[in-house]
Amino acid sequence: MRTGGTGRTGAPRSRPRPVAHPVLVSTVTRDVLDHFGKCPRCGYPAQESETVRTFQRGFTERIRFRTCGLPCGWTETESDGIRSQWR
Ligand SMILES: [Zn+2]
Repeated sequence: MRTGGTGRTGAPRSRPRPVAHPVLVSTVTRDVLDHFGKCPRCGYPAQESETVRTFQRGFTERIRFRTCGLPCGWTETESDGIRSQWR
């Protein structure tokens, strides 16, 4: 009688997984009309748009993108990072 296989018994260890990158469900972008920031480069009023990315399991990421109203080339992206809605 042969006992083949790996010779090892025991359940595979379930290692604690780091929070894997959640799966993206939806992306919503809107213009932020009440943003009154100015371009730090030329002083012209800047425009801002906000993107909210929703992931599975209640994670969201809010990204603010600012750009100069003039074509001076200034842009800025700011992200809160991926966080859980539930805290
Ligand atoms: Zn500018």
